[in-house]
Amino acid sequence: MDYYSSHINRLIEQLSRLPGIGPKSAQRLAFHILNLPKEQVGQLTDSIQNARQNIRYCKVCCTLTDREICPICDNPSRDHQVIMVVENTRDLAAYEKTGKFNGVYHVLHGAISPMMGIGPDDIRIKELMTRLAGNVREVILATNSSLEGETTAVYLSKLIKPLQIKVSRIASGVPVGGDLEYIDEVTLLRALEGRVEL
Ligand code: ZN
Repeated sequence: MDYYSSHINRLIEQLSRLPGIGPKSAQRLAFHILNLPKEQVGQLTDSIQNARQNIRYCKVCCTLTDREICPICDNPSRDHQVIMVVENTRDLAAYEKTGKFNGVYHVLHGAISPMMGIGPDDIRIKELMTRLAGNVREVILATNSSLEGETTAVYLSKLIKPLQIKVSRIASGVPVGGDLEYIDEVTLLRALEGRVEL
């Protein structure tokens, strides 16, 4: 039974495709949007479209950015010999928020997951290995402590160790399966400082 017009239904359907948005939240968001002044709705849709159109992957670290090379990779005062490997740009942002990491990052855009059919070639490992041909002192594996994150860390350490580059893993203490972005800065800092060499 259709209670709403097809326009409203379509909006609800689109919103319910977003992660973490169930049918009820989608409905609530849809009606919230419909009650906004037209001008504000325009700003919302413009910002979504602009972000999508202007965003690309940094040529060096693969993070999402609107430049060819992101501001972190482009910053000469950062230590480019220390690379922290994270699963996504949100994790990078979480570490940046601590303000205590002065190295650079590499963003994998995912983690190895045999169950989901995601293999090493499906994430940005090749790009990482290319970077390691340069002058790199340490690679810090900061993937999540989920099964996928651990699998990825083990896989990477096996790949990198023969290159005579120091490989370390952030300390456990980061809750299992917890997305890094939801962890507070103190926990992140402790995980970073307590990292162990593999
Ligand atoms: Zn970058």
